[in-house]
Amino acid sequence: MSGVAPGSARSLAALGQRPPRLTIRVVVYTAILIGIGAATLLVFIRHFERGRAESTARLQASVVTQGVVDRLAPSDLLGPLTPARKAELRQLLETRVLDDETPAAAVATADGRVVYATPGADSSLGSLSPVLRESILSGVVTSALVDARTDGETTRVLRTYSPFRLTNGSTGVVAIDKDYAPIARSARQAAIAVAAILELVLILLWLCLIPMMRRATKSIHRQLDTIAQLALHDDLTGLANRARLGAHLDELCEPPSGPHAFSVFFIDLDRFKDVNDTLGHDRGNELLVEVANRLSRAVGEGELVARLGGDEFAVVSENATDADAALSLAERLSGAMGGMFEVAGIGLEPQASIGIALAPAHGSTRDELLRCADIAMYAAKRSGAPRVYARELDDHSPVRLGMAGELRRALDRRELVVYYQPQFDLAEGRIRGSEALVRWRHPTLGLVEPDQFLAAIEPAGLTRRLTRYVLEEALAQLRDWHDAGLDLGVAVNVSERDLADPGFPDEVLEILAQHGIEPSALELEVTEDILVRDSVRAGGRLDRIVATGVRIAIDDFGIGYSSLGQLKSVPAQTLKIDRSFVAGMATDRRDAAIVRSIVALAHDLGLEVVAEGVETDEHVAWLRAAGCDVGQGYHLGLPLPSEAVTVAARRPPELAAAVAPLERATA
Ligand code: C2E
Ligand code: MG
Ligand code: MG
Repeated sequence: MSGVAPGSARSLAALGQRPPRLTIRVVVYTAILIGIGAATLLVFIRHFERGRAESTARLQASVVTQGVVDRLAPSDLLGPLTPARKAELRQLLETRVLDDETPAAAVATADGRVVYATPGADSSLGSLSPVLRESILSGVVTSALVDARTDGETTRVLRTYSPFRLTNGSTGVVAIDKDYAPIARSARQAAIAVAAILELVLILLWLCLIPMMRRATKSIHRQLDTIAQLALHDDLTGLANRARLGAHLDELCEPPSGPHAFSVFFIDLDRFKDVNDTLGHDRGNELLVEVANRLSRAVGEGELVARLGGDEFAVVSENATDADAALSLAERLSGAMGGMFEVAGIGLEPQASIGIALAPAHGSTRDELLRCADIAMYAAKRSGAPRVYARELDDHSPVRLGMAGELRRALDRRELVVYYQPQFDLAEGRIRGSEALVRWRHPTLGLVEPDQFLAAIEPAGLTRRLTRYVLEEALAQLRDWHDAGLDLGVAVNVSERDLADPGFPDEVLEILAQHGIEPSALELEVTEDILVRDSVRAGGRLDRIVATGVRIAIDDFGIGYSSLGQLKSVPAQTLKIDRSFVAGMATDRRDAAIVRSIVALAHDLGLEVVAEGVETDEHVAWLRAAGCDVGQGYHLGLPLPSEAVTVAARRPPELAAAVAPLERATA
């Protein structure tokens, strides 16, 4: 596969992108958070520590105040102090209050008159504002940060006012200035210590988280890689899958630089189904892987190979931008895919049909381009060479275009009708039943034969609806015949899709019960190649159907790959010889011999034999001679509306010897 980057435009493609670097994000975010947390903590703790230091200072102030107050005389507060008293107060304050961190103190009366202030004290020390006075008179120690001017210098101090009351009832206040720098310093130091310890704990926690985050990120990356691998790649071959191809096409269809030329190749392996059916699924898978490898080796830069499912592959090339370049790339791809490949000792040469669509000429969306490449691929299958899409090719693929919707409507409107082709007991010359064959009564095209529309039923997903429709019609008709006293059976064709559905046996029983029909009156026709498929054999569904009494007929026997030996294990009761053998019987001795031995072998296996395509008297004679039990063909009766069978079945049976001149049911 090439180096084309996975798509990123759609949600699926987002899987191809790397997830965010979780660890780095978490580290960055948590580091920012821890930083903010640290700053907040520091501010908070500083504030708290400062508060604590201030209250300690206030406590100290109130304690020393007590020592001073004890020595104050009531007369100190009344009038000017004598020089001797001043000296005593100075002595008192200097010994009891002042120290290195307490530069000034004063004693004032309650109305704010300074009685005494230590030398150098700020002139405002002791003078009280009305608010301060109010609070002090209530007996509360108060403090405030102020800028005090001492000796011409401004110092930040914590000023504490401690109120006191003397024995004679007079009140006053001791004001003390404490240098604020040591208080702030000790608060800061305490805050830093606490914050540092908390931060350390946070950082340790954070460091423990990082390895955990890294492990988690790695495992998320691994899981995303696996999901992207599963979501965008094909399990079997490892190629890009349909989803990734779609995303890639979307990206190419809408590049930021405007429309852009490229080509889309739809590659379908030829006869892959034969390999699968005859050699088994495992061998089929080996072949698909080999083809995938060969395609991958054949493409280069700017080219993407994808597996769309089954045996369908696609290549998108940004190098082949016109029809010539695309056709030569198709030749290269064919060449690379060809070449002998040995599977289970058998040499196979894979071949493929390649259809090409060019962008933007054939479409500008992924759906348009894939549709055109698909149509071109069908044309390539018919012609045997790679084809580039052309508008006229569309006409050849009505089935793949509008028909799905039309068929759905046809089923809804009951435009599908069932015709019945009589089956004659060759020995007795009587009609023993009929095969239900669907037709489409198209509103404008008239009666459309099944080969014109059956191929579109399966891709449209309508197989199960069609079978139910025909079963209901046929069994309702059988009810009418039985009610009219006609002892007939009916055969209905079923597909692989029906038999692969586990609910099918119950559905058949339900419709039988609905119309009150004995299961043995119904025969389900299944082609031999389908009968031996794993999807059909799995789960014992055929055995369940047979156990209910419903019969199984092997349709078109002889043209598939299965042998009678293989069919021994199939629980069928009837074998229908393909009309090609009946047609050749009269002229080709080998065909006659084949018919005789099929009849003999089938009888040995306990199977009833029906010959299809009985077109002449001679066929009837030969088949009777070969011992064939039942005949069906245009000579005996065309597929016609039910009334024709009713009329024919009412006639008295012809004598055994007179089967040949039997009138046609149409007559
Ligand atoms: P088949 O099951 O082998 O049906 C027999 C086909 O042979 C019918 O073609 C019938 O018209 C045709 N035929 C009958 N007698 C003669 C004859 O003497 N000579 C020639 N040359 N042909 C004869 P028809 O009706 O076109 O159906 C074709 C196929 O379509 C059927 O082949 C069957 O495989 C399929 N088919 C028809 N109806 C249904 C249906 O309801 N469901 C499914 N799943 N398949 C159906
Ligand atoms: Mg049939
Ligand atoms: Mg048939």
